[in-house]
Amino acid sequence: MSKSRDRELGMFRSITRRDFLNGVAIGAGAAATSSLLPSLAWAESAADLAAQDKPGYYPPTLAGMRGSHPGSFEDAHKLRDGNFWKSAGKPTDTGESYDLIIVGGGISGLAAAHFWRAQKPDARILILDNHDDFGGHAKRNEFHPGGRPNSRMLLVNGGTWAIESPVPYSKVARGLMEELGIYPAEFAKKYYSHDTYKSLKRGVFFDKETFGTDKLVIGSLGEFGNLEPEGAAKFVECTPLPEEARRDLIRLATGKQDFFPGLSSAEKKDRLTRMSYKKFLLEVAKVDPRLVPVFQTQPHGLFGVGIDAVNALDCWALQMPGFDGLKLDPGPHPREGYTARGFATPQEPYTYHFPDGNATIARLLVRKLIPSVAAGTTPEDIVTAKFDYSRLDRSDSPIRIRLSSIVAGVRHSGDPASAKEVGVTYLRNGKLYSTRAKSLVMACWNMMIPYLSPEFPEKQKEALHYGVKIPLVYTSVVLRNWQSFQKLGVRQIFTPAMYHVEVALEIPQNIGDFHSPQSPDEPVVVRMERTPCSPGMSERDQHRVGRAELLSTSFETFERNIRDQLGRVLGGGGFDPARDLDAITVNRWPHGYAYEYNYLFDPEWPEGQSPVEIACKRFGRIAIANSDAAAAAYTDTAIDQAHRAVQELLTA
Ligand SMILES: Cc1cc2nc3c(=O)[nH]c(=O)nc-3n(C[C@H](O)[C@H](O)[C@H](O)COP(=O)(O)OP(=O)(O)OC[C@H]3O[C@@H](n4cnc5c(N)ncnc54)[C@H](O)[C@@H]3O)c2cc1C
Repeated sequence: MSKSRDRELGMFRSITRRDFLNGVAIGAGAAATSSLLPSLAWAESAADLAAQDKPGYYPPTLAGMRGSHPGSFEDAHKLRDGNFWKSAGKPTDTGESYDLIIVGGGISGLAAAHFWRAQKPDARILILDNHDDFGGHAKRNEFHPGGRPNSRMLLVNGGTWAIESPVPYSKVARGLMEELGIYPAEFAKKYYSHDTYKSLKRGVFFDKETFGTDKLVIGSLGEFGNLEPEGAAKFVECTPLPEEARRDLIRLATGKQDFFPGLSSAEKKDRLTRMSYKKFLLEVAKVDPRLVPVFQTQPHGLFGVGIDAVNALDCWALQMPGFDGLKLDPGPHPREGYTARGFATPQEPYTYHFPDGNATIARLLVRKLIPSVAAGTTPEDIVTAKFDYSRLDRSDSPIRIRLSSIVAGVRHSGDPASAKEVGVTYLRNGKLYSTRAKSLVMACWNMMIPYLSPEFPEKQKEALHYGVKIPLVYTSVVLRNWQSFQKLGVRQIFTPAMYHVEVALEIPQNIGDFHSPQSPDEPVVVRMERTPCSPGMSERDQHRVGRAELLSTSFETFERNIRDQLGRVLGGGGFDPARDLDAITVNRWPHGYAYEYNYLFDPEWPEGQSPVEIACKRFGRIAIANSDAAAAAYTDTAIDQAHRAVQELLTA
């Protein structure tokens, strides 16, 4: 884009977008450091004081590039590339010894600490995480518009969106929710403020590069591209689609054609699992190819790939259009993916989105493990509770959370079958440390484990490498007001072929002392979602390409695209990208969702032989938790896997 276009977009205006490295810029003052030193007996001097122990350290308010933020992943890539140890130096022994060390401070790691302590109340536990904040994917973005600390707090999830799963929460996961005081269905009824956006609808933005003209159409294209029959004709009429594509859109949404006459429901379902939805649209329903871009990115939010890589039966389960005439029996099919199988099974509602998503679950767990970190006792009061990060890693606490600490080596002291201890080496602030524990839970990412622990059996390491985590970006943008949404009459806009595929106002709610903005004149958070991938390849390759793209994209490129997209989508409502933006946080997750098996590309393994079943077996004193171990990217799976891993170790 040209310099003058950059000026129109406001690329040179000052907003809240600080690119901090590793959190070191926060609380940079070293005041009062000596009083904290006893918490770190092995620290050599005040200069070694960890960032999280410095006054004012509070990562949720950092803007700029978050998620896998700069400083959190580079050493992991060195380990992968085999050049970490050359420059690592000799570790300093911390002299500590724990009952349990947990690698990874996401929901799974935090839940593992909780389950362990429930059975071993006196246990000493250390949680190590490479990020500057705890929670793993369940992170929070906290904004104070105008950069004024006393302005109204705006919150949004920086990752995990909600308590929401395709399958009912297990007894273990539901039990943990109840221990934390969380009752999702009840909270949704009590705290959502449905009236705030009462007059606002969903919309679809057709962009000129793909559809010939920029056009926002307000109307009833549903979450996965299904059209509500009553509004269908009116909606379709307003789109810039060519006549044939419009006709086919209506036909898909309202038609009743049986494309496979003579086949039973089971045979039809099986056939649909063997073709992508794109193939179904083009070769079975025979729609105009110009309709494909309307649907291409619909499944991105769930699967990280488009309709070229999602099977047609999965799309039937999501209620995408075209299947009515097939009269398929309800219920799941074994060749469907985990998520779609769940969608195909009716369930009682168990869904709630805290203002910061499931970061609240992480915060509740941390406060339960280390009560001095924040005041309060309920899920309601934790939403606005200020956390004192300097309490996370104190020598007087039996449970410690050490941030910005990447584990680089895990090794049994002796034969894994009989060793009494596991040694752990981690890098923090450029220095290598070693410590030890009687047991260890890997609540990190499966593909990372073979690099940390080469002593694992070869077959298990190969299986740990199989899944390719799904790259995703959740961008949070603070606008000075939401008058443009109000004027346009829209709250959530699907932008099927733009840089981000969705632009949406955050769910309004009032919980505890947190109150969402009610007037269009007030600042608001807008969520945008991007899932980089490369249509036409296998799903795993698409994720690899998407990740490489994500890691090489600068914040400036994100910002330019965000401003351009918001300007075009909301411009009709008077939005000015140079004037109306207050802050941007790009939550970049190159290693996002756990990989779910996709039988368009993956083999059908015999019972007990799928990669996760081989990958996640206990090895000596090490057990494997985390959602990769379930091949299903959900909070409940992360909790269930933590519970399994803890049980494996305690009963070994
Ligand atoms: C953008 C996004 C949105 C999501 N939305 C939802 C949702 O709405 N509902 C839902 O149920 N699920 C959702 N999920 C999935 C859900 O967040 C995860 O399944 C769950 O949080 C995973 O928890 P975990 O602890 O297993 O892994 P993580 O949260 O990934 O935590 C693992 C931690 O281990 C750290 N780690 C890795 N290697 C090392 C190392 N060598 N040393 C130290 N630390 C290490 C990682 O950096 C990370 O912090 C979402 C995921 C993403 C990415």
